[in-house]
Amino acid sequence: MGKLPERRSRRLKVGRCTSQKPIVKRDRWPYLPNWIALYAERGSMPKCWEGHRLHREHCRKSHPNCTYCEAGAKLRSNVLVCRKCPWWLICSQCASRPRLPSLRLDPLFFGPHTPRLLPSMESVADGSRGSLIICPGGNYQFLVPHEGLPVAEFFAKQGFRAMVLRYRLLPKYDFDDMQQDLVSAAAML
Ligand SMILES: [Zn+2]
Ligand SMILES: [Zn+2]
Repeated sequence: MGKLPERRSRRLKVGRCTSQKPIVKRDRWPYLPNWIALYAERGSMPKCWEGHRLHREHCRKSHPNCTYCEAGAKLRSNVLVCRKCPWWLICSQCASRPRLPSLRLDPLFFGPHTPRLLPSMESVADGSRGSLIICPGGNYQFLVPHEGLPVAEFFAKQGFRAMVLRYRLLPKYDFDDMQQDLVSAAAML
């Protein structure tokens, strides 16, 4: 990695603050791509991939299998179905899977100008097994939540000091800025 121009560097912060500006203005949220809106995965309200609210029903013969685990659905009495998307059904077991934070509470969706290191919730290990900086993907435009903190929690439980890097994104920032954020994170750790 070559020496990068000083001006690109931005002071790195640590913590999970979501009180900053979101990376996309609120009035544009309905137009976010599905893979970042992640209606079916985010927040406490169960929804289908299209963002319709799910309803609890007794599983009928006409229902399809569970969207997530395939086999289980027909055996379960309490299922969640979308009344607009007849192929969408979640069995009771899959309905209790851990959820991702809603956009409003997702620390990876805020602070477009402020790179940040997000610590795991698990108590931070002494780092005797090593330290990890996790850089979630997202087409360099977004940071997908399932590649961030859940990964950090997993490694923290194994005794690593694991932090998620919220790096700056396109189109306002370029690859050199992103790389500089990683260099700053490595220096800080
Ligand atoms: Zn299932
Ligand atoms: Zn639906």
